[in-house]
Amino acid sequence: MNQDIYVLIEHLQGEIADISYIMLAAARDLAESTGGQVVGVLLGHDAQGLADDLAADQVFYADHPALKEFASDAYLKTVASLIQERTPRAILFGNTTIGADVASVLSARLSLSLVSSCVKISEGKLISQICGGKIMAESELDENTTLVTMIPGGYKTEAGQSDAPPAIETFDAPALDDLRVTLKGYVEPETGDVDISKEEILVAIGRGIQVEDNIELAEELAEFLGGTICASRPIVDQGWLPVSRMVGKSGQTVKPKLYLALGISGAPEHVEGMAGSEMIVAINMDPNAPIFDIATYGIEFDFFDLIDPLLEQLEDA
Ligand SMILES: Cc1cc2nc3c(=O)[nH]c(=O)nc-3n(C[C@H](O)[C@H](O)[C@H](O)COP(=O)(O)OP(=O)(O)OC[C@H]3O[C@@H](n4cnc5c(N)ncnc54)[C@H](O)[C@@H]3O)c2cc1C
Repeated sequence: MNQDIYVLIEHLQGEIADISYIMLAAARDLAESTGGQVVGVLLGHDAQGLADDLAADQVFYADHPALKEFASDAYLKTVASLIQERTPRAILFGNTTIGADVASVLSARLSLSLVSSCVKISEGKLISQICGGKIMAESELDENTTLVTMIPGGYKTEAGQSDAPPAIETFDAPALDDLRVTLKGYVEPETGDVDISKEEILVAIGRGIQVEDNIELAEELAEFLGGTICASRPIVDQGWLPVSRMVGKSGQTVKPKLYLALGISGAPEHVEGMAGSEMIVAINMDPNAPIFDIATYGIEFDFFDLIDPLLEQLEDA
């Protein structure tokens, strides 16, 4: 086994996903303790240029038409053959729809340990945030290649970016002609009345809003700020807002200039959709809410005590 830390680079429709940069930053921490290199694993078709800003010592690149966009069967076969051939110390995946799909099946197929929801590497230990951030768990690398899924929160995306393109080594994908799952095409989610992925200011409401009638307060705030409202999944599941307003794994990915999170705990499935926001301001009563880990500014406060003075201030401004 070598001591290198691999990162499966996620990309969608020609764009690297932020989680890839976050994983490269984490891999750097982990490689320092193993004494190995940080290696990006990029699968695609005519996609070598995507490696340019990856902060990796090296990128292994496999080019194949079946790898043009993510398709689980093609990814599984290619990553499995790479692991078996080169036996890295660990391989990091996003705790995303793509990464969780590949990592969990690889763990079963190759009998390798899987550490999930890792948020930070500390002195070679993997720190996982589980049960929506209510429990922190510490794990160590296994003696075989360890599979790890990462959630945002512990590293900034910029820490995984570099101006100097990494060295690229191409490798052959295995035979990919008998795939059981292939991509037929994309179905873009309905944007409904407003396309929240294009908004610059979002006021996001979570279960902390308590009752449907209180949504009005958030709407008023959004109007003052020149933005619009969006929500965590429980709000949409209640039928209080349409699915087009949902942020996260099952909803939209947003990157506004300002994301004001009101009464949102910051569960990984929510954070997946908003971690790339330029500025995150979180208001939450619970000082241990994981949303504070990724917030630019965190306010530990009862939202209902804050909203009226805030609206008054905005009215006077
Ligand atoms: C497969 C799968 C997919 C999922 N996809 C998504 C998704 O796309 N998007 C998504 O959001 N979730 C998704 N979820 C659900 C996710 O796991 C969380 O359950 C959800 O994000 C929690 O929403 P929340 O933060 O609003 O609620 P909670 O976790 O209940 O948090 C409410 C927060 O409000 C705070 N609060 C309460 N009252 C106040 C107050 N008066 N003032 C200030 N703070 C207050 C509390 O301290 C708490 O932190 C998914 C789950 C699964 C299993």
